[in-house]
Amino acid sequence: MHSVLGAQILVGFISGSQGAYFDITFSEEELLRRAKESLRSMFPKKNFEIVAWKGTRWLSDPYSRGSYSFENGASTLEDRLELFRPIDHRIYFAGEATHPVHYGTVHGALISGEQAAAAVHNRYCCHRDLIPSTPWNR
Ligand SMILES: Cc1cc2nc3c(=O)[nH]c(=O)nc-3n(C[C@H](O)[C@H](O)[C@H](O)COP(=O)(O)OP(=O)(O)OC[C@H]3O[C@@H](n4cnc5c(N)ncnc54)[C@H](O)[C@@H]3O)c2cc1C
Repeated sequence: MHSVLGAQILVGFISGSQGAYFDITFSEEELLRRAKESLRSMFPKKNFEIVAWKGTRWLSDPYSRGSYSFENGASTLEDRLELFRPIDHRIYFAGEATHPVHYGTVHGALISGEQAAAAVHNRYCCHRDLIPSTPWNR
């Protein structure tokens, strides 16, 4: 995080099913032990002094219930398009998981929300195409 915060902070990500497993299985101490083990294997000649640390558990957090979708090796682009497909033109879906390219990101969630809103507008409002007024459409 040095280039962003100017501080000696390391951030590690564990995603997918392994992230879910870590979230519900390991104690804080075990997470720290494993993080140190990873650092030692990456930088065997360096000595690290960890002065503070924080582990997050997005899956266990009742206000989040997860973080973002991931490719499990068997999922396809069509699966994401299927998630985006409205039901009977009554229920529309958006969110990072529905975007075929920018899944797992804020901009994927934003673009898919804009596309869903435009689809609703185009079907139920003025019966003319809406070109969303967003920075990337100007
Ligand atoms: C640690 C971390 C760092 C990240 N860093 C970046 C980054 O640098 N850049 C970037 O582009 N993206 C980043 N992301 C990803 C980004 O945050 C997500 O892709 C984005 O927030 C997804 O938005 P969304 O609206 O699709 O879903 P969410 O923001 O996850 O919204 C889903 C909402 O649905 C609610 N919900 C879940 N289940 C239910 C239910 N059964 N009933 C009612 N509500 C429910 C949840 O509480 C949540 O409020 C990061 C994510 C994490 C966790």
